[in-house]
Amino acid sequence: MNLHEFQAKQLFSKYGIATPHGQAVTNGAQARQVAEQLGGHRWVVKAQVHTGGRGKAGGVKLVDTLDAVADAAYDMIGQNLVTHQTTAQGLPIHQVLVEQPSDIQRELYLAVLVDRVSERVVFMVSAQGGMDIETVAAQTPDAILNLIVDPVVGLQPYQCRRAAFFLGLTGNTFKQLQTVMQGLYRLFTENDVSLVEINPLVVTGHDELLAVDAKLNLDDNALFRHSELAAMFDPTQEDDAEVIAQKFGLNYITLEGEVACMVNGAGLAMATMDLIQKEGGQPANFLDVGGGTTADRVAEAFKLILSDNKVKSILVNIFGGIVRCDLIAQGIIHAAKDVGLTLPVVVRLEGTNAELGRELLANSGMNLHVAQDLTDAARQAVAASKE
Ligand code: GDP
Ligand code: MG
Repeated sequence: MNLHEFQAKQLFSKYGIATPHGQAVTNGAQARQVAEQLGGHRWVVKAQVHTGGRGKAGGVKLVDTLDAVADAAYDMIGQNLVTHQTTAQGLPIHQVLVEQPSDIQRELYLAVLVDRVSERVVFMVSAQGGMDIETVAAQTPDAILNLIVDPVVGLQPYQCRRAAFFLGLTGNTFKQLQTVMQGLYRLFTENDVSLVEINPLVVTGHDELLAVDAKLNLDDNALFRHSELAAMFDPTQEDDAEVIAQKFGLNYITLEGEVACMVNGAGLAMATMDLIQKEGGQPANFLDVGGGTTADRVAEAFKLILSDNKVKSILVNIFGGIVRCDLIAQGIIHAAKDVGLTLPVVVRLEGTNAELGRELLANSGMNLHVAQDLTDAARQAVAASKE
């Protein structure tokens, strides 16, 4: 789960990491009010959407009148922001963050993440802040310092000093970086964070460090331990179908192709997607309906699949180990009638009572095709998608 910038910055404050003063608002009038309270002659208005690259896409505006603050907020809210990280449709802006501007001398990069290779929490540090870190990594990998944290002893002071030397910090900011890194490490471990990125971490004209941006991703599997953070979930920033799927306990991810699939078991779902590709098709989604497949879940899964208008055919691949295949077949028939299914459905059933299940499907009088085996099923589903 991702947090918005303003939510992540609230969390930063709790851990002693300095951020610009500001507040998130939902309309132009509120934006003006906040700017007035902040005082000064310049303000930053930032679109709150779950993506990076907002600056280049017009989602970060520096303005110098109160009217311009209200206008910027008014212009952004209700629009979609398209950045190089989003789809062509972009993400809806419902809130903007109004902040005091920062006196930027240098833009640094600081991130903490779980590194799969070392299987450790790793700090990534670079003096090339304000840029795409992917570009920095590709073009000048030496410009990034990776510090691996030993989970037994935690982040060590010498590691913070190494980072400060690497960034060429001196005086006050040299010391402050230790506070920021230690705070970030505590924040990371105490909240089950999987990624936190400050880009840019700014060195100000007053020789201070300020987190001007904040990207934070939480481990979904640990959200039950953090109800306050879980409550910050913003469904408007997610794929609609994926939000509905989550509600029904279905593992669903939208993909680009035309052949939808409904499978029980994540591994079987991956194999099914591979087979669709092998037969010359493209999967429209990943969908694992889980072990305890019931007629209700099958119906919900069909609805999800049909909400994607790219879909041309559906491949159902169920292995009935615990559940009986005849019950699943009844569920499929029932769900197909329920949602008024017209697209061709190819079903591969295997396991307990598979024979009986296949008979039920074949005699249903609906557009349900029974496949001999998985390869046959993939072939039929791909062919049907191209008709
Ligand atoms: P992102 O594009 O989504 O990563 O959004 P950021 O919050 O990183 O903002 C993008 C860029 O806008 C930053 O790298 C800064 O160069 C600039 N920016 C953001 N806030 C300020 C500010 O207070 N003052 C100035 N001068 N520039 C800012
Ligand atoms: Mg940024």
